[in-house]
Amino acid sequence: MAQEQPFLVFGAPAIGEEEIAEVVDCMRSGWLGTGPRVARFESDFAAYRGVGPQHVAAVNSCTAALHVSMVAADLEPGSEVITTPLTFCATVNAIMHAGLTPVLADVDEATGNIDPDAIEAAITPRTRAIVPVHFAGRPCEMDRIVAIAEKHGLVIIEDCAHAIETEYHGTPAGRFGDFGCFSFYVTKNVVTGEGGMILGRDEEKIARARILALHGMSKDAWHRFGDAGYKHYQVVECGFKYNMMDMQAAIGLHQLAKVEKHWLRRQAIWARYDEAFADLPIITPAPPDADTRHGYHLYTIRVDAERCAVDRDGFLNAMNARRIGTGVHYLSVAEHPYYQDTFGWRAEDWPVAMRIGRETSSLPLSPGMTDTDVERVIEAVRTVVLGL
Ligand SMILES: *Cc1c(COP(=O)(O)O)cnc(C)c1O
Repeated sequence: MAQEQPFLVFGAPAIGEEEIAEVVDCMRSGWLGTGPRVARFESDFAAYRGVGPQHVAAVNSCTAALHVSMVAADLEPGSEVITTPLTFCATVNAIMHAGLTPVLADVDEATGNIDPDAIEAAITPRTRAIVPVHFAGRPCEMDRIVAIAEKHGLVIIEDCAHAIETEYHGTPAGRFGDFGCFSFYVTKNVVTGEGGMILGRDEEKIARARILALHGMSKDAWHRFGDAGYKHYQVVECGFKYNMMDMQAAIGLHQLAKVEKHWLRRQAIWARYDEAFADLPIITPAPPDADTRHGYHLYTIRVDAERCAVDRDGFLNAMNARRIGTGVHYLSVAEHPYYQDTFGWRAEDWPVAMRIGRETSSLPLSPGMTDTDVERVIEAVRTVVLGL
């Protein structure tokens, strides 16, 4: 019976013996904090995205990366920052933590990505930055977004939490903007437990981000307590405690080495889902555009009670009863009471994101899934959607 099957955890990471052995080595080395493994992870990640190591800074989350990038971008307090309502709350919170004002621009119905026309319509004399989110791993229309930013003198900070492998017209996500912010959270495409990376075009701004991410101190601990002799530090800014540990980088080093292998596995699962759901009355993800690389981070379907046997929440509950974990990416941020109370936002003001948010479900897409797991998900989706 389905009830006796193990619970299929949504977003379960694929952790191998290499990651485990590296964490053990790190612990035996006695150096757990920010040190040589973080430095190696930074240079490996920089090489993967085709930049020099002086263009990246590892931090302890993508939220931290977004916050520090906003501060390092040096925007006047109260400046308006345009972003998408179809994102995780961290995108909006980071804007607010930097003393800036979030402004939402609705998304494209087919892709879930911020609509460049809506960005243009949201620009005011106070607009200073755009934060596009490459939703589900699909690149935003960066040609148009870069053109809008150039025309209006705006900073771009890309939220690349879903987009480690993503490319648009030959350029990796994270390299269009002044900053690109990546996540290595447990459900993301490369995992360090908690972790993030800032990629920046301007070396001086990345150097500043690095200082901001460690209390505003001018030299990090590894350099102070290493074998080169004690070095005094100077506090040059009021910074944050956002540094990545070697324990985290130990996982990330081996996850990054498997990034292509895991991407190929998710691509194969994605193709199998596309094929298996083609005849169902649900909306499946739009196929990737030509000359782009999709990150295949989230396989989202839209379940609508008018066409399916259940509504979205009924679908989530029925999948859970079949012991399959799902996710919702995302309820429009304008659905949440804090932003409604603070900014007077109403979900109806961004109707496309509202509709997607109320109908969407994300299916398991982990590289560690077996073919049997994939077929189990397919069988459950077909049964629930068709009301069999
Ligand atoms: C996961 C996520 C974040 C936050 O990442 P953390 O590393 O957990 O801080 C930000 N934006 C989006 C779109 C995300 O999916």
